[in-house]
Amino acid sequence: MSTTPHLEEVTTGVDFDAIDPATYKTLLESTRAIPWRIDWKTLRFTYIGPQIEALLGWRQDSWTSVEDWATRMHPEDRDWVVDFCVAQSSAGTDHEADYRALTRDGDYVWIRDVVHVVRDDQGEVEALVGFMFDISERKASEERLVALQRQLEAYSYLDGLTGVANRRRLDDVLAHEWEQARRATQPLSVIMIDIDHFKEYNDHYGHLAGDEALRQVAACLGGVARRPRDLFARLGGEEFIWVLPETPEAAVQRIAERCRQALFKAQIAHAGSPQGGALTISQGVGTLVPGHADTLEEFLGEIDRRLYRAKQQGRDRIAG
Ligand code: GH3
Ligand code: MG
Ligand code: MG
Repeated sequence: MSTTPHLEEVTTGVDFDAIDPATYKTLLESTRAIPWRIDWKTLRFTYIGPQIEALLGWRQDSWTSVEDWATRMHPEDRDWVVDFCVAQSSAGTDHEADYRALTRDGDYVWIRDVVHVVRDDQGEVEALVGFMFDISERKASEERLVALQRQLEAYSYLDGLTGVANRRRLDDVLAHEWEQARRATQPLSVIMIDIDHFKEYNDHYGHLAGDEALRQVAACLGGVARRPRDLFARLGGEEFIWVLPETPEAAVQRIAERCRQALFKAQIAHAGSPQGGALTISQGVGTLVPGHADTLEEFLGEIDRRLYRAKQQGRDRIAG
């Protein structure tokens, strides 16, 4: 009998060295992690836990060589996982890899393979032992989280009332397109739009009807230009804006006219208007190939002054 007991004996009363192989086997095979061992010289499995069949459907005795492991992997993961694991193992480094394992039914299950390199007395790599963990739940919740984050980000760029781009998105796009236009010496066009006599609309129909009218106007005007970089946004209140990259002066005049026409066709009743019975808009339009001396603020300031002029000149018109 030993006079100096193992630490384990002191703390737990269990002598781990004394656990017989059968108990080890039972313990290994009753965990949810799947144990395995590969002989490094022959690259053949010398063991894999029977749990593998419940997880992937392939029988325990069908895992004979690393080929079986590599072929039962998603083609997109295979090359990097095999290269990575071989490189790490050759270097004698413990490692882990996440990949999609093929099930017998043709589906894929996300696996985390945690690998420990076993060396012989000379320090040469002798075998690899490891555990496969089913991480599909974790991956699925990660993916849900990423999708949710994307959705939140998308929402954070939308105006809550009308569903068109909001001020935040507008500021980002304007700054970007201003830079692009300057670099590429291309014309950047902007249309500022303000609904006429909208205060009277609210006074006459009530604020909720006013909200509904804003939605209608946004839907109406947001469809008039369609190039991929064109942006329609709510500037705030009853004001909207079109940002039109690489658009020359003649083209932006036509787009502004289309806005006027689109709203005219919609004939949104405005019985409270001092001018006629339908909702109208005033627009300020500008085009610039930005030079080094120009600033975005001055450019927008000039368009805002033109919009003001359109109001002064009687509303329901375009000033450019
Ligand atoms: P003008 O022709 O000179 O543009 O006159 P206006 O009445 O449209 O301009 P003013 O700036 O005096 O009033 C804008 C109105 O727009 C006042 C405000 O109540 C209304 N408004 C701004 N945002 C909203 C909104 O989200 N919902 C509703 N229903 N009304 C809004
Ligand atoms: Mg206004
Ligand atoms: Mg107005």
